[in-house]
Amino acid sequence: MTNVLPDLSEPQGFSFRLEAVSEQAHPRLHPQEVDSTDSAAAQNRDVRELMLDELEQFVVAADERTFRARQVMGWLWQRGADSFEAMSDLSAEFRAQLRNHFRISEIPAASVAKSSDGTRKLLVALADGEAIESVIIPAGSRVTLCLSSQAGCAMACEFCATARMGLHRNLTAAEIIGQIAAARRELESGEQLTNYVFMGMGEPLANYPRLTRALSIMTSEWGMGISPRRVTVSTVGLVPAMERLLAEFPSVNLAVSLHATTDELRDRLAPINQRYPLKRLIEACRGLPIKRRDRVTFEYVMLAGINDSADDARRLVRLLGQLKAKVNLIIFNPFPGARFAPSTRAAVEGFQAILRQGNLTATIRESRGQDIGAACGQLYAERQSG
Ligand code: SAH
Repeated sequence: MTNVLPDLSEPQGFSFRLEAVSEQAHPRLHPQEVDSTDSAAAQNRDVRELMLDELEQFVVAADERTFRARQVMGWLWQRGADSFEAMSDLSAEFRAQLRNHFRISEIPAASVAKSSDGTRKLLVALADGEAIESVIIPAGSRVTLCLSSQAGCAMACEFCATARMGLHRNLTAAEIIGQIAAARRELESGEQLTNYVFMGMGEPLANYPRLTRALSIMTSEWGMGISPRRVTVSTVGLVPAMERLLAEFPSVNLAVSLHATTDELRDRLAPINQRYPLKRLIEACRGLPIKRRDRVTFEYVMLAGINDSADDARRLVRLLGQLKAKVNLIIFNPFPGARFAPSTRAAVEGFQAILRQGNLTATIRESRGQDIGAACGQLYAERQSG
């Protein structure tokens, strides 16, 4: 069992380093300073990484009117332009300036596996040879996209396939959002993405600056215009980042991966618990600015003989009793080399019944896309050659 504390160099102290990170990520954008050779163009910043105010700074420095920035964003995010040339209501001169300073990243290539239940798993190829997985999950009138936030993961949860990869690297905001464009390309006619969940590879809150940049682009009216209520960020419980996320994005849904009701067990299943133990995690959840009628979702992976007893269920009721919470029971999805087995149906239903008696809303998450290795916790992308 891997009982080591995961490397937390990223989330730790992130709030103090955020400025430094964003400083680095926003080189000064002055039109006069950049030449237009091909090699310069190749290194240009991806305009799909920009926030509106950053593009506005550039536009003003280029002696254009501020509203041109919104026009460019409209072309990028609403009209799907893939070149500055296509932005036909901008002057040729301004388009040339844009071209000299920025590039527009392409929609990443993806190979697709289709499950018999309609689930589609995309293996998305990144420019440096890394690969990540995204999953399209149709269910009734909803079509949910499960997004990755990192290539691999450093959180070392014992029952998760992605953890086996370790952390390869953080995704950029453009790479996070690129998954949406890649997924849209795979939709059938008449099909539309309705919900977005960060439950793919990686710990989203360990990639805070890039996650929140992506969330801003997704949910802003100048960006993709997705309602934040249709977006869920799932975290293993990085407490400071969790609090900060809800302060900055109060309408985004939060899901917390709990999996255990004692520190002893959670230390082992999700070693981040050694840093943010249950008491601290639950207290933080209690203090979150959750709006009326909204609730925090707690995910609980059901592992046979490990965390699925009646005692566990009763402890869970006590733990979450005072909270605006709902529980999502996930039946463990095995993968090659996994050291756990899924709880029996009877155990899961018995567990659910105890939660309900304790006045907790508890749903059982049906596994989707198991036949293509697309189910929760099965995502494991082999590094592509290159
Ligand atoms: N790092 C984030 C998001 C990615 S995992 C988090 O921990 O929440 C998304 C969900 O899948 C988590 O609740 C995780 O515990 C669960 N999961 C991981 N491995 C699983 C497996 N093998 N079977 C079922 N669910 C699993």
